[in-house]
Amino acid sequence: MTSRRDFLATVGAAALAGCAPAAKTSLPPGELLGMSQALGHRLRDGGFPAPSETRKTGVLIIGGGISGLSAAWKLAKASVDDFLVLEMEAEPGGNSRAGQSPLVSYPWGAHYLPLPTRESTLVRELLAELNVLQGDPAVEKPRYEERYLCATPQERVYRNGLWEEGLLPHRGLDAAEREQQHRFHLRMEEFKNAKGRDGRRAFAIPMELSSRDIEWRQLDQIPLSQWLNDNGFTAPSLHWLANYATRDDYGTAHTQTSAWAGLHYFACRNGEAANASADTVLTAPDGNAWLMRGLAASASGRIVSGALVWRIEEGKQSVAVDVLFGAKNRALRGAANHLGSTRLHSATRLACDAGRTQKRGTGRRLCTLADGQSAPC
Ligand SMILES: Cc1cc2nc3c(=O)[nH]c(=O)nc-3n(C[C@H](O)[C@H](O)[C@H](O)COP(=O)(O)OP(=O)(O)OC[C@H]3O[C@@H](n4cnc5c(N)ncnc54)[C@H](O)[C@@H]3O)c2cc1C
Repeated sequence: MTSRRDFLATVGAAALAGCAPAAKTSLPPGELLGMSQALGHRLRDGGFPAPSETRKTGVLIIGGGISGLSAAWKLAKASVDDFLVLEMEAEPGGNSRAGQSPLVSYPWGAHYLPLPTRESTLVRELLAELNVLQGDPAVEKPRYEERYLCATPQERVYRNGLWEEGLLPHRGLDAAEREQQHRFHLRMEEFKNAKGRDGRRAFAIPMELSSRDIEWRQLDQIPLSQWLNDNGFTAPSLHWLANYATRDDYGTAHTQTSAWAGLHYFACRNGEAANASADTVLTAPDGNAWLMRGLAASASGRIVSGALVWRIEEGKQSVAVDVLFGAKNRALRGAANHLGSTRLHSATRLACDAGRTQKRGTGRRLCTLADGQSAPC
């Protein structure tokens, strides 16, 4: 016969087993991909060999991600062929690189491009060049190659054990919350068409072309969470969505992100197509790698991979860039006369201070070297 003590012990153990996390399952085979840790540590640790040779080129682009390759594409289109792209990894592409399984290719990071807005003239130009935009890139609603148009449904959210269509949770909400969601949607549609007193769209892509009107810019003074509450958007589902959006685009919570930046996420995408709805995105099995390859083609023969830039010395009229070539440990110095006056963007990360720091977001340098000669390294 089971004693009371034994019974309670058995029930307690069963209950505990039910609460306990499932036995640790091992991860599926694979590896974490991304920028090389070894190179990052190399930059941090310093101790680079003194440059053993100096080469010169007209323009030096540091980093072969989408930014650097866009600069190369633009230069090539302007018939400037005296440039080099220095990329520390074995291949260019940065966050838009892709992998290949025996069955299908897949993106490592960036995986879609929203339909370009009317202001995104260069993106439209590139897409036309790649035959993804068919016909005149300047028309209001261009036609896009069907293979790149992502058919709906595009997004789902997993909540309370169920998948729901779209990003905004909608099951089991009361009428008041549904009303707020509807009102938020209408407000964002309104913002997509809003213009400042300078005639510019309030939230444009490229961001640079957004209105400078103080009425809109002052939204930079408060966090998105406050803007939501001030405008009667208190529903938890809306705050969840706003927080998801700012973390996705900026890596910060909606309590830490400016209302202007947060609203830009929702109101900037108003590109249209003749053969797709406005919220469609362009994508492919390899994510954005097709875009990267299209850009890289214009820099063919001028992309130097395995080239780690570890020091940039900027003088009044000159720039010197020190580079380490991978396993060979071959050091190189590019002596420079001028900083290019054109404001092209190169990599987002530059190695500064003898490789002890890696700065993000400061990579806007166009280096015009010495006598303007091109010299593949
Ligand atoms: C997970 C994830 C998903 C994303 N999804 C999308 C998406 O779907 N659509 C979208 O439009 N955007 C997306 N983004 C954002 C997008 O990827 C970036 O905005 C874009 O890749 C930035 O391009 P970049 O060239 O500036 O930087 P990167 O792609 O990071 O490229 C920088 C390049 O510089 C090189 N480099 C760095 N330091 C050095 C050095 N010292 N010397 C030499 N080379 C160096 C790197 O190896 C790299 O190739 C996503 C971002 C992430 C993280």
